[in-house]
Amino acid sequence: MEGALTARDRVGIQDFVLLDETTDAAFLSNLKKRFSRDLIYTYIGTLLVSVNPYKELDIYNKKQMETYMGINFFELPPHIYALADNAYQTMLTEFDNHFILISGESGAGKTEASKKILQYYAVSCPSTTLLNTVRDKMLMSNPVLEAFGNAKTLKNDNSSRFGKYMDIQFDSQGDAVGGHILNYLLEKSRVVHQNHGERNFHIFYQLVEGGEDDLLHQLGLERDAQHYNYLTQGECAIVSSINDRNDWKTVKNALQIINIEEINTNHLFGIVSSVLHLGNIRFESNSKGQAVLANNDELRWVSNLLGVDARSLQEGLTYRKIEARHDQVLSPFTVDHAIYARDALAKAIYGQTFTWLVNRINESMENKDPSRKTVIGLLDIYGFEVFYVNSFEQFCINYCNEKLQQLFIQLTLASEQEEYEAEGIEWEPVQFFNNKIICDLVEEKHRGIISILDEECLRPGDATDLTFLERLEDKMGNHPHFVTHKLADKMTRKTLERGDFRLLHYAGEVTYCSHLCLTRQNVLFFSLLKLICQSKNAIVKECFSTMDADSRRRPETVATQFKSSLLKLTEILMAKEAWYIRCLKSNESKQPGQFDEALIRHQVKYLGLMEHLRVRRAGFAYRRKFDVFLKRYKPLCPATWPHWRGEPADGVEVLVQHLGYLPNEYKMGRTKIFIRHPRTLYATEDAFEK
Ligand code: ATP
Ligand code: MG
Repeated sequence: MEGALTARDRVGIQDFVLLDETTDAAFLSNLKKRFSRDLIYTYIGTLLVSVNPYKELDIYNKKQMETYMGINFFELPPHIYALADNAYQTMLTEFDNHFILISGESGAGKTEASKKILQYYAVSCPSTTLLNTVRDKMLMSNPVLEAFGNAKTLKNDNSSRFGKYMDIQFDSQGDAVGGHILNYLLEKSRVVHQNHGERNFHIFYQLVEGGEDDLLHQLGLERDAQHYNYLTQGECAIVSSINDRNDWKTVKNALQIINIEEINTNHLFGIVSSVLHLGNIRFESNSKGQAVLANNDELRWVSNLLGVDARSLQEGLTYRKIEARHDQVLSPFTVDHAIYARDALAKAIYGQTFTWLVNRINESMENKDPSRKTVIGLLDIYGFEVFYVNSFEQFCINYCNEKLQQLFIQLTLASEQEEYEAEGIEWEPVQFFNNKIICDLVEEKHRGIISILDEECLRPGDATDLTFLERLEDKMGNHPHFVTHKLADKMTRKTLERGDFRLLHYAGEVTYCSHLCLTRQNVLFFSLLKLICQSKNAIVKECFSTMDADSRRRPETVATQFKSSLLKLTEILMAKEAWYIRCLKSNESKQPGQFDEALIRHQVKYLGLMEHLRVRRAGFAYRRKFDVFLKRYKPLCPATWPHWRGEPADGVEVLVQHLGYLPNEYKMGRTKIFIRHPRTLYATEDAFEK
């Protein structure tokens, strides 16, 4: 009987903090109840949990946006707009910087969430025509970056294959006036290789499917993805959920809006096409076992499109040039080496072009007005990944997730508990797994996996996966989160190949192929690099001229570059106030209405949601320094208004007694008042307004 049910029975609880018990079962049951009613959002305090519905819900329209503008967080049903609005309002009143960390595994809905937030700010902030153009650029940066940086994977038809941090800058009126993007480690290996059931980056298929006849003719392309080696390895060029032809139009339009001139658009598609032609260059072995070109047409197209000399290109792909004093010696490649050189070139130009695009987007969104701005940063970065074969990319992605989990722990679980201690608030400590030990295992100077990878890559002579693995075993022998075939016990050994190493991440075990970690560090052969620096394609020229200068220094491995960029990101984030969205994937088959309990339980566990809930429940949602609290609310009590002459703490006590706070609703610390639930504060705010 529907009528007899309470709202709580029907739609579950909007905030997990109010659950009767904090068991996994109660948590899941509440999530499931809400999911079955299409209520995909639930709070844990101010953290937002979101479950991917895999269907369009009518909750993202303008009317909904308007409903959430300027409301108190808990007044309306949980929504991503409420979180976005709360961050925005806090930024305006406190005039400080914020970031929203969106996490979850591949396909959980991070990118969709970040787009919804961006749309919310684009619509809800006050606007003028001039600012609208900046907003359009921010919004339009998405289709462009997704075309070049997203791809269909087994987990997600639109998987982000790069990490993205975007600052939205606001002026003191709260207008969105500019933006800036930092991008992280594009998965370049996808340009030349895709696993079965996966595709290359969307842009290749968009061009081949949607490109106008003239354009394809100019670029020497066939209107058939099957024709290209780099597009067919996954055997799924056509995906039912993707309309490459329409997306092509969107991307072209978006390129215009972000001010990429026509000439550069031509160069851009020239590069994309040159990659496709490169992939079709084949090599044969001559009688001496040396690689020779099997087809000339494709080489000619590459040389045309990149504006480099065809003979030098052929030489660069089949010989290694060794410069000895005044002499040059040409050492021929085997077919394997030639393929390696070809693929390295394709990856390098594509990767550099992606960075170029990000830079151009940044220029177009830049706000040159020097007055002070505050920012809200949106972090949408690849989720934890486990495949059948895991290579260097998965290693980086999972390391990144460890770092973000560590940041989360520091900013919420650990710091919260430290503060209670410092303030002398009585408190039952909550146990949680601190993953710092795994971060250290990966990144520690001289001892971590990345340091060892560096040393192996940069040491003269040939490092092999075996020497790399041996060194790892040497250093990590007893580490509780590291295991190899040699170090494993009998049972585990059966599941480990000799060339692999396994890390016990906070989110689960992942076995990495050491060979794929080592080979992915290698850079372009010098002769090809030199050639490409002379390219007449303006974008390629711009990208590689700086790289050439850099190459004179001791090269950094990709792993080290990634590590430094993550350290920088952590610094950026630590200086801001954090908001969290935890995205959960509802099922593996991308179907609406399916709530796979085991899958969700696993995510709830490794995202640390239960620990977070326990800390929140045991803890206090709000805290204010006594003097700040008193200053704001003293008009509400005759004894404190207009002046309180005694100690601020005593004034606060008098004030909250007058307001009728119950003893379990607040606690007095050494310097601050702690308020258990924000509702109490909201009620106070409301009284204040009256
Ligand atoms: P990755 O780490 O692979 O980039 P992700 O977490 O960014 O994954 P999304 O691309 O945001 O995942 O979401 C995957 C798909 O799930 C979307 O293409 C969309 O079909 C669906 N989806 C996600 N969030 C929503 C939502 N709020 N409403 C409807 N569908 C959604
Ligand atoms: Mg994504």
